Amino acid sequence: MSHRFILEPYKGVAFRHTCPECDHNRCFSRYIDTENVITFPEYVGRCDREQKCGYHFTPKDYFEQHPDRKERLQEQTSVAPRSYTPPPPTSYMGEILVKRSMSHYSENKLFQFLSSQLGESESLRLMKQYQVGTANHWKGSTVFWQTDAKGRVRTGKIMLYDPATGRRIKEPHNHITWVHSIMYKEGFNLKQCFFGEHLLPTDNTRPVAIVESEKSALIANSYLPQYLWIASGGKNGCFREENLSVLKGRNIVLFPDLGATDDWSAKIPVMERMGITVKLFDYLEKNATLEQRKNGFDIADFLLEIKQPQAILQSMIAKNPALKLLIKELGLVLIEKPTQPIPKIKRKRPKL
Ligand SMILES: [Zn+2]
Repeated sequence: MSHRFILEPYKGVAFRHTCPECDHNRCFSRYIDTENVITFPEYVGRCDREQKCGYHFTPKDYFEQHPDRKERLQEQTSVAPRSYTPPPPTSYMGEILVKRSMSHYSENKLFQFLSSQLGESESLRLMKQYQVGTANHWKGSTVFWQTDAKGRVRTGKIMLYDPATGRRIKEPHNHITWVHSIMYKEGFNLKQCFFGEHLLPTDNTRPVAIVESEKSALIANSYLPQYLWIASGGKNGCFREENLSVLKGRNIVLFPDLGATDDWSAKIPVMERMGITVKLFDYLEKNATLEQRKNGFDIADFLLEIKQPQAILQSMIAKNPALKLLIKELGLVLIEKPTQPIPKIKRKRPKL
């Protein structure tokens, strides 16, 4: 029954509501019945502000509070088998649109940030490899194309970043939107896939690392190329069986954001049942400082810290010894005592 009730798919701002818990606008998704029998009260849904609010009232919670409704629903459902209507075919983005976006990187705020951290040529390599383009929707915004394992583009997620910090712009509103909702008003049948999914067939043996954020997949790819990095696009994104099937037979390491480890470990049994070998990298959860937790750090934030010039890094390690353990855990090379003169920091590329 769990597949029957889903969070209302995003088709524009009208589909995001005010959260009953934190009162924020346009952050709340309601549950709907895909069979159109039941209409849930407005409070049955999930707040997008997972770290700061975390409100999630599921249909299961609702039926637990209202067993009578559940009974009625079962009666209604068991009357007559509905005729089977095949799902509409998945829609895809036009190639020209995608190609056209793969330019104007000097104006792209995320590219500016990545260049300041990783250098321009490395940043360009990442944008091309992952199919990340520049969008006009907001000046300098970034479009992360979701390209599937067969190279077809499902949609693009547009976000705006602060070029100095690499953080997403969330004021005065959350700068995030979708290409399919801008370009196609109706009749677009969205099926999301992992960001970076098109890279899976290029290397069948490399273990796959899953992070939540698209930006983090890019950064981690640069530091830890022994993994094939892809992004779920959200704490709950892409963890349904139909999304996970591309991972069958692969070795997976999950790298949840701080605060999301429990949610992600709950997904492991399903994945294992599907023939996916899963490990959970919960090192950050066990060792993060309060400050890092408060900011919802993820693996990329740690990797960027490690990249600091040796002298700065040493003082950071002194304040946060967990950083040194992390470096060891990930097999990164750390120069213990900087020789004179302090060597230029190079990105470490540990061997497999
Ligand atoms: Zn909320």
